[in-house]
Amino acid sequence: MALACDVLFTNVHLATMADGYGELRDGAIGVVGDRIAWIGAAADAPAAAAVHDGAGCWLTPGLIDCHTHIVHAGNRSDEFEARLNGATYEDIARAGGGIMSTVRATRAASDAELLRQSLPRVASLLAEGVTTIEIKSGYGLTLEAETKMLRVARRVGQVLPVAVATTFLGAHALPPEFSGRADDYITAICDDMLPQLAASGLADAVDAFCERIGFSNQQTERVFAAARQLGLPVKLHAEQLSDQQGAALVARFNGLSADHLEHLTQDGIDAMAAAGTVAVLLPGAYYFLRDTTPPPVAALRAAGVAMAVATDCNPGTSPMTSMLLAMNMACTLWRLTPQEALAGATIHAARALGRAADIGSLEVGKRADFALWDIARPADLSYAIGFNPCRGVVNAGVLRHPVVSLPD
Ligand SMILES: [Zn+2]
Repeated sequence: MALACDVLFTNVHLATMADGYGELRDGAIGVVGDRIAWIGAAADAPAAAAVHDGAGCWLTPGLIDCHTHIVHAGNRSDEFEARLNGATYEDIARAGGGIMSTVRATRAASDAELLRQSLPRVASLLAEGVTTIEIKSGYGLTLEAETKMLRVARRVGQVLPVAVATTFLGAHALPPEFSGRADDYITAICDDMLPQLAASGLADAVDAFCERIGFSNQQTERVFAAARQLGLPVKLHAEQLSDQQGAALVARFNGLSADHLEHLTQDGIDAMAAAGTVAVLLPGAYYFLRDTTPPPVAALRAAGVAMAVATDCNPGTSPMTSMLLAMNMACTLWRLTPQEALAGATIHAARALGRAADIGSLEVGKRADFALWDIARPADLSYAIGFNPCRGVVNAGVLRHPVVSLPD
């Protein structure tokens, strides 16, 4: 008996992202349950209980934002304005600004308030075809407040149509309670916070900020060793402002990804290539900080390191809630090709989350997460600035239109 699908999306052009763009014009895609069951020419499509006519739209895998700090309270537009009126970083730090202002606001917020402030940012991503996001903790810096952030991150995936991957980023900044005692804070992370969070199931991965103004290579290594002991995969904010050999460190722990990488050297690239660690490129922070050292894209490409693109949505250095803008910036600022940018927002982003077997490309057996676009060709997604051609999103086989309504 011929296959019958629950739902068929027909009269679409497919960019499967299974191999390059994987273009298939005049195609169709069939869904059974929450899985892709059939892909091929529209003329050969199987019967289905429900048929959606895509009206000639392009259909791609749902976009994946694999690096965000999107759950946080307050914002830092006051500092943005003060700096543009001549205030220095020292002035702002003396006035209690910077990351600690976000830590104070996030610690003070209830679960409900933290969720209420975060949902509109997530909705902005979803309106542009995003179906999976990663959300980091890192503004709580106590077990209780980090747990609250991760609980709210999980809640985001229950109230909005998006799959959420959570990451514990306790080693983001040194909390004031541990001032001058960074090694003691790392001990608290390894011996207290990590085991309890691993037991709670609230963290899917563990991240750290390895930098002169963050934590050292040795301190990061202690966090990674503890995480791996608990069976949690690791990733790293690496080589953003200086070379700390963080990429080689995270590769040594078979890390999912090394992120930022503006100051990455060839040794780090070689280590990432050997370990299969994904390079997550974050052009929003580079743009917002007016950085001038681009990540070594050509060398990453030459070494065959998979490159993902993400928003790094955060209140201090990348207040950005648009994957399409991140893709445009990756092409314009760093010379990714539009195909690399779309792969970076789909299959390579899935790889950076350790979920490439389940999402990131249109292949039979993968989850039916799609975005429908009113575009002439896939490059349009990286080309336009501030234009949203998304005409519909499919989450696990369920079609919705891009406008997401927020709960009251
Ligand atoms: Zn980040």
